[in-house]
Amino acid sequence: MNFNSDKEFSILIIEDNEEMRQLINDFLESEYHTLQAENGKIGFSMAQEHIPDLILTDVAMPDTDGLAFCTQLRKTFETAHIPVVMITAKAMEDDQVKGYESGATDYIIKPFNVAILKLKIKNILESIKNLRSRFSIEKNNFTEITNNRFDKELMEKFMNYLSLNYQESTLNLDEIAIELGMSKSTLYRKLKAITGSSAIDLLQLYRLQKAYTLLANTDFNVSEVAYMVGYSDPGYFSTRFKDHFQIAPSSITKSGI
Ligand code: MN
Repeated sequence: MNFNSDKEFSILIIEDNEEMRQLINDFLESEYHTLQAENGKIGFSMAQEHIPDLILTDVAMPDTDGLAFCTQLRKTFETAHIPVVMITAKAMEDDQVKGYESGATDYIIKPFNVAILKLKIKNILESIKNLRSRFSIEKNNFTEITNNRFDKELMEKFMNYLSLNYQESTLNLDEIAIELGMSKSTLYRKLKAITGSSAIDLLQLYRLQKAYTLLANTDFNVSEVAYMVGYSDPGYFSTRFKDHFQIAPSSITKSGI
């Protein structure tokens, strides 16, 4: 999404009752980017296009209802990771079971307390942030932070591609996206959603980690290591290295150069 403000997260609201939809939007728009859809069909295409951070959906809707929407969302590569909070007037336990079976993250029952809805949303978004921050390029612990097979497969392919190609100084986003079989924007948004970082940021981190290991364990000097991990400019490498590790690469080598 491309908004000119400092709101961190985006929320898609799917609700067929216009008054209700507007009301929920009014509650949330001061803190979040909001998008609105009047049924699950429109909501699904908006979710694919914008990849919101969270979706609030009504259950009973004409055309595609909340359950069918959620099932479709979970089966789709671009959207499988997005948390869904279902809003329903039905307090029947059976409906909640169906909701969770279709992949809902949480539930709220109409009429609801706005403060509770806001807290639910906040907690889910905070836990996503925590999960993203647990990813470490060094540990490559992507199974720990992914909750669906699409994301696991993507991370596996992506990390494998990095490990085989990081030494290539001309490696760029176009090539990585082609190799992984998706558009640049999809790759960017998916990696951001899973790890909080872009493909290029992750590539840089991967190279810096490799460089650190080489500097600490071999006799290569800083320039040699810079080229070995895919930097064409040792000066730029040193700057990035120092930014990341808070230590100059030359202070890690045995020779000091
Ligand atoms: Mn409805």
